[in-house]
Amino acid sequence: MSGIPAERYAARLAAARVEAAAAGLDVLCIGVGADLRHLTGYEALPLERLTMLLAPAADGVPLTLIAPRLEATPARTCAAAFVLGLQRVLPYASFIVASTVLRRLRMRKDTDEVALLRRAAQAADRVVLAIANGRLVGRTEADVAREVRERLLGEGHEVSEFSIVASGPNSASPHHDAGERVIQGGEPIVLDIGGQVEGYGSDITRTMWVTGGDATAGPDPEFLRLYEVLQRAQAVASEAVRPGVACEAIDAAAREVITEAGFGPNFFHRTGHGIGLEGHEEPYLVEGNAEPMAAGYTFSVEPGIYLEGRYGARIEDIVVCTDTGGESLNEAPRDLLVVAG
Ligand code: ZN
Ligand code: ZN
Repeated sequence: MSGIPAERYAARLAAARVEAAAAGLDVLCIGVGADLRHLTGYEALPLERLTMLLAPAADGVPLTLIAPRLEATPARTCAAAFVLGLQRVLPYASFIVASTVLRRLRMRKDTDEVALLRRAAQAADRVVLAIANGRLVGRTEADVAREVRERLLGEGHEVSEFSIVASGPNSASPHHDAGERVIQGGEPIVLDIGGQVEGYGSDITRTMWVTGGDATAGPDPEFLRLYEVLQRAQAVASEAVRPGVACEAIDAAAREVITEAGFGPNFFHRTGHGIGLEGHEEPYLVEGNAEPMAAGYTFSVEPGIYLEGRYGARIEDIVVCTDTGGESLNEAPRDLLVVAG
């Protein structure tokens, strides 16, 4: 079952040609990648032979899709070589990167895209909850990561892309992957997982505290305070989302809460990234990005607080900007998950 009806691609192509004409361009040349998939649904493989969509801006001029004939002798043409060749035969033509024209169309997700992102998010929600309710103590992070990947596929993802399992002091490192460390009672685990459903990404982070069944091994007061601040920052940032608000203002909203509580230096990454056919795409929620939010933008809101050598926490949801404000596509509880493990 495909989530994107065929007529949607015709509408996207038409919109792209309008944008190209408005930008004063004659033709869009779209090589293999997310732009091509967005416009045509064609998930082309990056071959050494040329695959390219030529979409003239002028109305009524037909589209051309150049694709390799499998029986043909392999040519050594790739998209970059093709553009260099064009520059040679058209020395007075100017070339700009097509994504500058397509970026706004790609950022504004249509209802079918939001529906797929929601499906992906809710599947990832179920995986997080299954992991939190399962056995953890005595297992390695890598073993739990393997279970995450299997469960993502079991919940309808066709690709399981990443599975960060950061336990104990590893939770203080936002870039920790999953290693041979054995999970113990009396420590937190940051779980940051995602993959793709029909090409559209999931990406969720939840933090849990594993007691190992020992009532005295619950979260210490400092961790509880850190988590309360983090949860508030994530909520305030999500609530700040609405059309017209600058992307950097969402970042600032989260940062202000964390800084006021004295954890400013312990939140050292951007608040979020766009998500769609690519796991990280525009818009980025980061200082310096004045791009105004618009309805249909989808992105992560994922502040974190990390105390090096001790522990850390992060909460991440995928949020869609609607006409009236931000709506989280993830529904898994954001409260600290205290589990026996
Ligand atoms: Zn993530
Ligand atoms: Zn993310």
